[in-house]
Amino acid sequence: MYHTLKTPLLAAALCTATLLNAQNMDSQYASWPAYTGNDLELLVDNSGTHFTLWSPKADAAEVLIYDTDRNTPPIDTLRMKIGDNGTWRASVPKKLYGKFYTFVVTVGGKRLAPTPGIWAKAVGTNGERAAIIDFATTNPKGWAQDKGPKIDKINDAVIYEMHHRDFSVHPSSGIVHKGKFLALTEPATKSPEGLATGIDHLKELGVTHVHILPSYDYNSVDESNLPSNQYNWGYDPYNYNAPEGSYSTDPANPQTRIKEMKEMVKALHDAGIGVVMDVVYNHTANNDDSNFSLTAPGYFYRHRPDGSYSDASGCGNETASERQMMSDFIVNSVKYWAGEYHIDGFRFDLMAIHDIETMNRVAAELKIINPSIFVYGEGWTAGDSPLPVDKRALKENVDKMTGIAVFSDDIRDAVKGHYSNASDRGFATGKPGNEETVKIGIVASTAHPQVDYSKGNNSKFPYAGAPTEIINYVSCHDDLSLTDKLAASMPGSTEAERQRAARLAQTIVFTSQGTPFMFAGEEVFRGKKGVHNSYKSPDSVNAIDWSLKAKNKEQFNYYKELIELRKAHPAFRMATAKEIAENIVFDNVKTPNVVSYTIRNNAGGDNWRDIKIVFNGSDKPYETKIARGNWTVVARDGKIKASGLDTFTGGKITVEPASALILARE
Ligand code: CA
Repeated sequence: MYHTLKTPLLAAALCTATLLNAQNMDSQYASWPAYTGNDLELLVDNSGTHFTLWSPKADAAEVLIYDTDRNTPPIDTLRMKIGDNGTWRASVPKKLYGKFYTFVVTVGGKRLAPTPGIWAKAVGTNGERAAIIDFATTNPKGWAQDKGPKIDKINDAVIYEMHHRDFSVHPSSGIVHKGKFLALTEPATKSPEGLATGIDHLKELGVTHVHILPSYDYNSVDESNLPSNQYNWGYDPYNYNAPEGSYSTDPANPQTRIKEMKEMVKALHDAGIGVVMDVVYNHTANNDDSNFSLTAPGYFYRHRPDGSYSDASGCGNETASERQMMSDFIVNSVKYWAGEYHIDGFRFDLMAIHDIETMNRVAAELKIINPSIFVYGEGWTAGDSPLPVDKRALKENVDKMTGIAVFSDDIRDAVKGHYSNASDRGFATGKPGNEETVKIGIVASTAHPQVDYSKGNNSKFPYAGAPTEIINYVSCHDDLSLTDKLAASMPGSTEAERQRAARLAQTIVFTSQGTPFMFAGEEVFRGKKGVHNSYKSPDSVNAIDWSLKAKNKEQFNYYKELIELRKAHPAFRMATAKEIAENIVFDNVKTPNVVSYTIRNNAGGDNWRDIKIVFNGSDKPYETKIARGNWTVVARDGKIKASGLDTFTGGKITVEPASALILARE
């Protein structure tokens, strides 16, 4: 969510004056003891059920035990005793499976509202109460052997960003469990025209990873009233360590959401597809009523000098990852999802609200669990923060992080036009002046002798130390979809012309170094009816109509071949900045809206010695000369085939308007 590009220097100037006061205000928290045990919240063992809560400034703490997930009085109240390092503890000498609980903390003489705690791993309806369950009962058959795809480096991935409801809720999906985790477990589903939908569609398209929009328990959709069909992206976290109930078939049963999410992961893994989770630790849905605030008021958030919540998220608050218990919370939470749910990657929302050190911990500790796990995030904030700029996990600081990638707004805006100005065009739609920024995208924001960063639209220096630090994209759930952006910026155009522009745009993304990322449904040319911030728009705006797959068959085939091309050729997926600088040579082109380059030397161990790529984003044909040789024509005039469309022996060749030319030779 969000996409504001904060200029670091400006942000630094803005916040320097207030920084000292804010630090004084928040410095009290540094002296709070931290607890590093792994038994926070709940532990069930042969000696019974044990509750542990961290709340160093509490006067008292209780556990309320209930028979049901909501609307019933407690059947028991346990007074917690002071433990070590700011903890409170209570135990019952039996396994309380099937019961629910909340904590109630008294601070400064005030008894706060009940909370399921910050570490609830199972919850009932609307996440109001935590549940005591036996996790062994939630594992699908074969779970112990379940594994995601092995991947050596992030830019070997092809990422498909998807919302559960967008993907399956439309009647044309032919899917039974519409809008649910289980939608992705249904094989052989078809559109009315008989084409594959659901998981079979993903296999056919060839993406390596699905990135699911927030799937932890979020706040906005009323799980007690699912027939009302509410829609939300889910960037309003409530319980970070339990799945969202509205994506399950029974939110009241705490096992169901867990089991069904695991079944989804397993079905995708069985199809060879990894699962990336969108995580939003940067803010919570509520302020004083959040589980953080009801557990240890103040500690988990940053504040302004006047004591109010600071708001780098643009959502009313921001968390304080520079404090040990918040940093630990983030690290342990992603480790938990990786371990319990076999998640293969994490996308950090507004990552620059977090500190660099925490993000480095996240990446390092996940790699220990599974070396194939990767992490990427939005390297910006949505507003100013008390966290000093040099500590923020910003795009510009990506090279201070290890194993973390950031979204490239450089390539995004250069190719299609500015994200927030609907009518603005980009390189692929004929606007000159974006050529150098397209080149920055091609080399994944690494240093290259032929790329002049002073001419870059967004970033003025090569901020990436390696192509594995960059996620390339032209659209995501935020802002206008590519389909809508093209409609808004190409008035009077035909749909065929817009599809052609979309192909050129995605060809730039998928042949660039770095990791390609696409918004679900663009392969069938889905739009969002021109709604840019569709976070709570109805299904009629957000759902993918799968009849588009037959209507836009050529578009789908283009994406499929483009993905196949990338996966078959390591030259598009080089590992280091040095390799890119040595193997990519740009042609000296004076024509506006044309970028022409060669990938040489069997780059990355490719069987192709040379790959010649010309992008023509103008409305005029561009003529170029190709060296004599036995060339395979891979892409030309809006068509592409990974195994080759045609052959060419060199000489003059025309690159048609709004198209990519790709030639290769061994
Ligand atoms: Ca929820």
